[in-house]
Amino acid sequence: MSTGKPKVAFYWCASCGGCEEAIVDLAEDILKVTAAVDIVFWPVALDFKKKDVEAMEDGSIAVSFINGAVRLSEQEEMVNLLRRKSGLVVAFGSCAHLGGIPGLGNFWNKETIFNYAYHASPSTENPNGTVPLEKTTLDDGKELTLPKFYDTVYALHQVIDVDYYLPGCAPPKHLIMNAVTAILEGKLPPKGSVLSPNKSLCDDCDRNDSKPEKLAITVIKRPWEVEMDNETCFLAQGIICMGPATRTGCDERCIKGNMPCRGCFGPTDQVYDQGAKFLAAFASILDTDDEAEMDKIIDTIHDPAGTFYRFSLPTSILRRKRLETVK
Ligand code: SF4
Ligand code: SF4
Repeated sequence: MSTGKPKVAFYWCASCGGCEEAIVDLAEDILKVTAAVDIVFWPVALDFKKKDVEAMEDGSIAVSFINGAVRLSEQEEMVNLLRRKSGLVVAFGSCAHLGGIPGLGNFWNKETIFNYAYHASPSTENPNGTVPLEKTTLDDGKELTLPKFYDTVYALHQVIDVDYYLPGCAPPKHLIMNAVTAILEGKLPPKGSVLSPNKSLCDDCDRNDSKPEKLAITVIKRPWEVEMDNETCFLAQGIICMGPATRTGCDERCIKGNMPCRGCFGPTDQVYDQGAKFLAAFASILDTDDEAEMDKIIDTIHDPAGTFYRFSLPTSILRRKRLETVK
């Protein structure tokens, strides 16, 4: 039965579930949301089925909030279905926005990931060497199917047209409520906007003033290797902080917890490649002109590609490791 309220859908692709948790964390504000909209699809919380969505008229869902990257054929099918049924699609959270942590899978391919997960990892106990198959025929002749696992992880806009992006791992409550209010009041910015201020995290960070006039790093330390001062800029302490290459809007939640930024909000509009932007900023603060010395400092960074592209590999210039060279 239609209540006349705008219809809203939530869907979960390749992600950890934290974005679903962010909706639950709206706490009493979720009552304001449910008072204003009808939730017509939310598999993690409500018992609607795919066929219920298929039966809806095209364009009849006002907005679908889709979190997670696209890694399986089932996810590709569902996001295409939701795109067809929805007026607006919002990429919700880092994985839908940029590829996110699942996007680090683009350093490998299906074969290497399956090999590790089902055979080689120290915690794997798989004496028969069983791996998931797309089709399995049972003794009684029945056929079971599983979705196709792609070699490549995609951000949402690499698969369907996306109207807006809510950044963050997970998006914070105030940005979610701002977005919901803007949608309900029809006060949205231009299509394609990231719904968070377009400036860097450093611009809003309380520690920005503690940066010396010229930052000069000679050694990189990891957070667990030092007792971190809770007022000084992390970079000035020789700790990698992605703040210069990351969009603000999270209320500096990691920094306030005395942890450096890992970059989950992605870059500002002016930056195409967050990792490259950070590398350029970082190279300018290494306190040496000597190439060998520079290599020595860089060698102290554990997993540079995973550090600089932690959330953004699928949407970076690199995008993925070349398939033919993956071993
Ligand atoms: S680098 Fe990090 S700690 Fe330093 S000002 Fe920027 S966000 Fe703050
Ligand atoms: S400080 Fe950085 S990693 Fe932490 S929530 Fe903000 S943007 Fe994300």
